[in-house]
Formats: sequence, structure tokens, C-alpha cells
Amino acid sequence: MRSGIFSSSSSAVSSGRPTSEKYGYAQSNPGGFHQSNFSLSMITPLKNPTHKDSCHICNCSFSLINKKLICKGCGEPMCYMHSSLLDRFNLERICDVCMRQILVKQAEDEIAEVKQRCSGELSFSVLEREEKTRLINKALGRLRKLRIEKKDLIEKFKKEEEKSKKSLQLVSDEVKKIQEEIDEYRKQLEVQKKEEHHNWERMKMTVEDQNALLHEVSKKEVLNYELESNVDNRTKDAQQCLELNVLKKQLCIICNNALAKSLPHMFDEISPQKKSKSQRLQEITKDVCKCSLF
Ligand SMILES: [Zn+2]
Ligand SMILES: [Zn+2]
Ligand SMILES: [Zn+2]
Repeated sequence: MRSGIFSSSSSAVSSGRPTSEKYGYAQSNPGGFHQSNFSLSMITPLKNPTHKDSCHICNCSFSLINKKLICKGCGEPMCYMHSSLLDRFNLERICDVCMRQILVKQAEDEIAEVKQRCSGELSFSVLEREEKTRLINKALGRLRKLRIEKKDLIEKFKKEEEKSKKSLQLVSDEVKKIQEEIDEYRKQLEVQKKEEHHNWERMKMTVEDQNALLHEVSKKEVLNYELESNVDNRTKDAQQCLELNVLKKQLCIICNNALAKSLPHMFDEISPQKKSKSQRLQEITKDVCKCSLF
């Protein structure tokens, strides 16, 4: 039986209809060979061929021109048109049905290989994805941690900023206070300087006054001394005057005049005027002395 040899799509072949147009694959490479590595082991050979003197595909009769060929796969007879070389290095021929079977088998193998490779790649990508997911989770954890740290740091920074602002305010207040104190001290210093200047002026004036007074005192002392000496002189003069007056009263006018001539400073009151002095003296000397002093 053919069941198990062909896929379900090849049921038309098992029905035995000979029209080659039904087999789109069959005449693609008539009488040629396929380049893939085909193997007869891919075909399950039939034990009892269904045809003897005609092609089992197109049912054509064999002749001298249309030679009968035997498929190395299924053992069925076939015409040249429905045969192919197994491959480049194998000159054995197989029928189109067996070729299709080989192609299907090869395609299935390729699909299986691709499937296996894809599943390998898939499992690898699953592993990779898991690894990446693990890395992402790790990174997310780290991110969460960093966010919390950031939040903490921001709060800490805010607190420190607040603290710094407060201490800055305190320091500013202190500086302001000190500045005010300095201003106050400066004012006091200014006032003190003014007072000192005033005092110095006063002291200077006082010293000047004192010097003036001392000068005055010394002047007065000199004056006093002069007055004292004057008093002494006057006293002496007075004594002399007294004696002189006594003498004057005792002398006559002629002798008085004679004395006044020799001691003019003692006889101011009786001294004649300068212009008429010599005249007067001549007149006086004409008289006769009464006291007989001279
Ligand atoms: Zn044929
Ligand atoms: Zn065959
Ligand atoms: Zn006389």
C-alpha cells in the first residue's frame, strides 16, 4: 500500500490519474537532477509495481523512442519526462512522485531544523529576556533605593539649609548689633573729642589768662617796687624839702635865688621863667642881702 509514503496532498497520485498537469512540481526539471543531497533512503520502495508497460505517472506507452525507465525509489516504470537524476553525483533516476516525496521530506527536515534552531534561539532569548528582566528589576530596585536616598538627601539638605539660614540670620543680627555699637562708640568718641577740644581750648585760655595775670602781677610788682622806691624817694625828698623850706624861710630872697640857681630841681616853685631868667636874676642881685649868708 502507498499510505504512509505520500503526504495527504498527494492523494491524487494514489488515485492513479495519469495527467501530468496535476503535478506542478514534476516538470520543473525534466530529465535533470537536483543539486541537494538527496538520498534513496528517504523513499520507501514499493514491493509490487502497479504498472508494467506504461509510465505510472502519465500512463504513456513505452517504445524505442520513449524508453522505459525504472524508478530507483519506488521501482515503478516511468517515462523520461517524469524522471529526474537523484543528484549531481548520483546518476540513478527516480520518478517525480519519489522526487516530490524526497522534497517534502527534505522540507520537513528543514522545517524541523529551523524549528529546533528557533526553539533554541527562543529558549536562549527567553533566558536572555529573563536575565534582562532580572537586570531591569535589579536596576529598578537600585533606582527605588536611589530615589529614597535622593528624597532623604533633599530633606536633609533642606533641613541644613534651614539651619544655615538661621545661623546666617543670627550672625547677621550679631554683625548689625556690633555695627550699631561701633556707631554708638564712634558718636561717643566724637563727643569726647569735642569735649577734649573744648577743654583744651579752655585750658589754653586759662593758661593764657594765668600768664596774663602773672604778667600783670609782675607788672604790678614792678610798679609796686617803683612806688615803694618812689615813696622812699618822696619821703627823702619830703625830709629834704622840709629842711629846705625851713632854710628857705630863714634866707632872704637874694640867697634863695642864689640857691635856686645852683640847685634848680629844688626850687621849681620859685624858679623864674626861662626867658626872663637872667633878667630876674640881675634884678634880684641888685638888691642887698639881708641874711648875710653870702
Ligand atoms: Zn510519464
Ligand atoms: Zn518512484
Ligand atoms: Zn641873705
